[in-house]
Amino acid sequence: MNLILFGPPGAGKGTQAKRLVAERGMLQLSTGDMLRAARTSGTELGQRVAGVMDRGELVSDEIVIALIEERLPETEAAGGAIFDGFPRTLAQAEALDRLLKGRGKRIDSVIRLRVDNDALLDRITKRFEDEGRADDNPETFKTRLAAYEAQTAPLIPYYQSQGRLHEVDGMGRVDQVAADIDRALDRVPA
Ligand code: ADP
Repeated sequence: MNLILFGPPGAGKGTQAKRLVAERGMLQLSTGDMLRAARTSGTELGQRVAGVMDRGELVSDEIVIALIEERLPETEAAGGAIFDGFPRTLAQAEALDRLLKGRGKRIDSVIRLRVDNDALLDRITKRFEDEGRADDNPETFKTRLAAYEAQTAPLIPYYQSQGRLHEVDGMGRVDQVAADIDRALDRVPA
């Protein structure tokens, strides 16, 4: 099964993706993690994306699509992928559909985590204090949220019109959100 965890920054996608990996053995593909890893290891790609990420803007479609494409073969061996933080633009969503189709696969479900903006700011402020991720500072976070509203939220009607979107309340406790996701996944046709 291929699954997209969808939602604004701070919605809890990474937390839920890690749980699904542990419980179902699927592979998490987080473009944010891949880009941060590229920066940490100081690759040319890492250097190229650093400024954009630190401003809270989106990295180019071309770069993130290539990162995902490279990893697709592994996801098949794992029984499926959890896409976390990808796709973030319509062009990325269309590319993902095309790439999967070329491999005889598809996105089976899109789980949208709904969280209100005040809660997001609280969560990210706390993560900034705990983990010190530079792009979690309140100013940059506003840019990230604006990028989500302008470029990523339009994917909601895209997936809705294909009947693949499932909404989950992301405001509850981590285990409640997890249970709601499991319920949504149980309804996905095999
Ligand atoms: P978030 O907590 O905002 O969901 P991520 O770890 O997913 O954070 O992403 C961090 C940054 O990496 C983004 O602000 C953006 O600059 C870049 N990035 C990650 N995924 C993508 C993507 N699919 N398209 C463009 N940029 C991305």
